[in-house]
Amino acid sequence: KSGFVAIVGRPNVGKSTFLNRVVGQKVAIMSDKAQTTRNKIQGIYTTNESQIVFLDTPGIHKPQNKLDEYMDQAALSSLQEVEAVLFMVSAIETRGAGDNYIIDQLKKVKTPVYLIINKIDEVDPNQLLPIMDTYKKAYPWAEVFPISALKGNNVDQLLDSLVKIL
Ligand code: GDP
Ligand code: MG
Repeated sequence: KSGFVAIVGRPNVGKSTFLNRVVGQKVAIMSDKAQTTRNKIQGIYTTNESQIVFLDTPGIHKPQNKLDEYMDQAALSSLQEVEAVLFMVSAIETRGAGDNYIIDQLKKVKTPVYLIINKIDEVDPNQLLPIMDTYKKAYPWAEVFPISALKGNNVDQLLDSLVKIL
């Protein structure tokens, strides 16, 4: 079993951290600064039975000019060609315009979307359910997965779930 999975999300939500953990080697630059990851970077998760090729997709953001618009179209069409999209958000930041824009874009694709709420190591367990609820309301079709890319919480469960849909 093998397939492609795209990762989208605003800068700094933890996409590169997740990729580095899953792929087991550094494939993307990690930084506190926004937009460090300039290119679509592929990392491959491999087990005995399966292989997932992850695509880091930094191109989805609100278009500012014609070139941006073109890039967004390219990013959007690449999302049609993968088996699943991981839409990553941060549990420690409130949902913003950037997240809402991506949600609107994802509504245009038929690909299954996993809403990954990252950085749960930083939130009180009691706060997690309300956070999950607000995202479920905004995007009811997505499967919601709270994880910590940094500490590894729930990452194996997410990978198992992805492998099942390949
Ligand atoms: P990207 O821009 O989406 O690729 O985000 P990065 O992977 O570069 O992460 C941005 C910052 O968030 C870095 O300082 C990471 O160490 C931190 N970070 C990523 N994942 C987690 C997590 O699960 N928990 C915590 N506490 N910090 C995280
Ligand atoms: Mg990155």
